[in-house]
Amino acid sequence: MSYDYDLFVIGAGSGGLAASKRAASYGAKVAIAEADKVGGTCVIRGCVPKKLLVYASKFSHLYHDAEGYGWREVDPKLNWQKLIKAVDNEVNRLSQLHIGFLAKAGVELMPLRASLVDDHTLELHNPQNPDQTPRRVTAAKILIAVGGEAIKPKVPGIEHSITSREMFLLPKKPKRIAILGAGYISVEFAGIMKGLGSEVIHLIRGDRPLRGFDIDVQEGIYQGMVNHGIDVRGLTSLTSLQRTKKGNIRVAYERDGEESVIKVDTVLCAIGRSPKLSGLGLENAGIQLKANERGIASIAVDEYSRTNQAHIFAVGDCTDRVNLTPVAIAEGRAFADTEFGNNPRSVNYDNIPSAVFSQPEAASVGLTEAQAKAKLGEDKVKVYRASFRPMFHSLTGANEKVMVKLVVEQQTEWIMGVHMVGDYAAEIIQGMAIAVKMGATKKDFDATIGIHPSTAEEFVTLR
Ligand code: NDP
Repeated sequence: MSYDYDLFVIGAGSGGLAASKRAASYGAKVAIAEADKVGGTCVIRGCVPKKLLVYASKFSHLYHDAEGYGWREVDPKLNWQKLIKAVDNEVNRLSQLHIGFLAKAGVELMPLRASLVDDHTLELHNPQNPDQTPRRVTAAKILIAVGGEAIKPKVPGIEHSITSREMFLLPKKPKRIAILGAGYISVEFAGIMKGLGSEVIHLIRGDRPLRGFDIDVQEGIYQGMVNHGIDVRGLTSLTSLQRTKKGNIRVAYERDGEESVIKVDTVLCAIGRSPKLSGLGLENAGIQLKANERGIASIAVDEYSRTNQAHIFAVGDCTDRVNLTPVAIAEGRAFADTEFGNNPRSVNYDNIPSAVFSQPEAASVGLTEAQAKAKLGEDKVKVYRASFRPMFHSLTGANEKVMVKLVVEQQTEWIMGVHMVGDYAAEIIQGMAIAVKMGATKKDFDATIGIHPSTAEEFVTLR
């Protein structure tokens, strides 16, 4: 049986782009369908525009810090529209670059929405023109890389809230914003909006954000947020949203059985994401799904990203494994190497570093203290930790703290986890991750000469 394509990829985000180009490099005839801008969540409405806003928001702290170094006081004013436009221009530039990379790799880009008709046939719809007759194509292998979308809690009036997707499109800077959720996106936007001058009320269900992170990371980020003036309200549960006559939003939440009300102009929901599976026709190809502990459905795959259909694969957030861009890219490339490059390989999910671009920033690799103790036993784990004021702030007067931490197996001195809260944590932990991946011990860290004066040298002088 011959097919129109060797590989058809649904979704031009991080995973789909990486897989399609790699497969084409082996000579496969590849097409990729993307009805939205090319680039996916990371480039269009995630990592990239978010990091640009983080940079923008940090100036407010730097203007203040500069005074401690003798610079005359400045009275900075933010032009929100200019910032949003500049970010949008950069996103569009990157999207165009990705289109160019696809063309160079010989991948056919279809600006259409694809759905499965059966396990080898796809129907392509033009969302701009729903009356247009959909086109059908066939493929020997299919890769689903459709990513995810933000979810919202089911409370009355929730339609008045927005998600991170709309945060990059707001015509006006929020004066007072309530942020719901306790994960990456919520703490990152809390820092961004506070730095850009909004009043921020962060409603979290637990008593600290970032549950699942190392306890000292949670605490360090929490203290830093509070220190920056973010109003973190813990142990709260949202009950309703209501639009007021003046166009504001009345946010009602419960704490200890008592209801409180705040008024804001914007509510951001960041309580997690869900694979974007609707309308894909997965049932037409008999693709099996799985559900996580929150009951959120994703595509079930094996270690080679293969679904229950031997020639249909899925990578990235739609498989709900480790939902990070570099992981989706690694999965996409491993899939292409295996299926088209005669090099069967799977992704190793151990010791994946990750960062939270909160303010202060945090990053980790390996096990948390709690995970290490649960794995080996309380007395088999040694923890080295330091918390100090970074040198930069010795003249600024700001109450900023850095936290560095090593989680070590007592007997062998094997480094099980490295955690940091503070400026450049992502940059520093990326390097540490190589050492952890290579199986470094505390002795190796001790034998390494520090770079002085730096924050990172604390990692090799911990006692
Ligand atoms: P996350 O899945 O990281 O966290 C959401 C948090 O919201 C949960 O941990 C939970 O915390 C809380 N929550 C869940 N349900 C409710 C509810 N009904 N009411 C209030 N709070 C609730 O979600 P995000 O949206 O922050 O991020 C989505 C994905 O994006 C993540 O998988 C992440 O990997 C990725 N991402 C990564 C970034 C990075 O690497 N820097 C940046 C941004 C996103 P609790 O249970 O403690 O209440």
